[in-house]
Amino acid sequence: MHTTEAEAALRAALAEAGVAIEDVRRVFVTHLHPDHIGMAGTLERAGAEIVMHGPELENASRMWSRDHSMIDETYAWFERHGMPRDVDEGMRASWLEIGRAVDAIERVTSASDGEDVDLGGRRIRLKWTPGHTDYHAVLIDGAERVLFSGDHVLPRITSNVGLYPYSRDDPLGDFLDALRAVRTLPVTRVLPAHGDPFDDLAGRVDQILAHHEDRLRATLDAIGDAERDAYTICRALFPVLRSAHEERFALAETLAHLRYLERRGKVRELGAKPARWSRT
Ligand SMILES: [Zn+2]
Ligand SMILES: [Zn+2]
Repeated sequence: MHTTEAEAALRAALAEAGVAIEDVRRVFVTHLHPDHIGMAGTLERAGAEIVMHGPELENASRMWSRDHSMIDETYAWFERHGMPRDVDEGMRASWLEIGRAVDAIERVTSASDGEDVDLGGRRIRLKWTPGHTDYHAVLIDGAERVLFSGDHVLPRITSNVGLYPYSRDDPLGDFLDALRAVRTLPVTRVLPAHGDPFDDLAGRVDQILAHHEDRLRATLDAIGDAERDAYTICRALFPVLRSAHEERFALAETLAHLRYLERRGKVRELGAKPARWSRT
């Protein structure tokens, strides 16, 4: 995100690598989250071309637009799913606040799934990996056998996978499929966007797949034999939530698991307000 500290850290790290910010020619943004796209405008103003997966770019323009329609839609959607009003207000306020740490960008070059992008003279293959966001993309350096995994595969934490009113239909289904699709890539080194580089891609993918199996079971257990709204289920799955951001991630992640189960005939949504869920 574009904060004073983050910009200082970026400049310091580039200097340590012997690179001035003006030397950066091209930047690939894996997805629209503020901790990934936040300083792209700063790099653009220093002379870099910004490249993104085309459909992710369209969503980024909507998400960070001044009318913040996506944030308002989410507010209404969370209300329907039982989020208490004060928590929902906090969610909206903190999201709007974060938007102030995202640079405006003049021009972004759009790239397609499967396209080769020239990054520093290397041919890097873009691969669409939906789930964490609808059009998240990873980069594969086939010659060096390196995967730039963005937030798709992380070594110590699991990526947040959330269902929003504007999302694709089944983000968790997308995510698990996209994990299986990278599991056997011929890479020996993974450079994630959070945490340290790691080598065992297949092993880490298997851990994350098993984690979501557990969480799907826990979601069914949290419903039990009752009809419950998503926020109640969320608080059973995530008893400790320390900020408005965590509240948002937790409810969206719970909804993604509920939608996954719904699409596979395990639960159904009852259209009351708040909407309630029961096992089939
Ligand atoms: Zn992210
Ligand atoms: Zn991230």
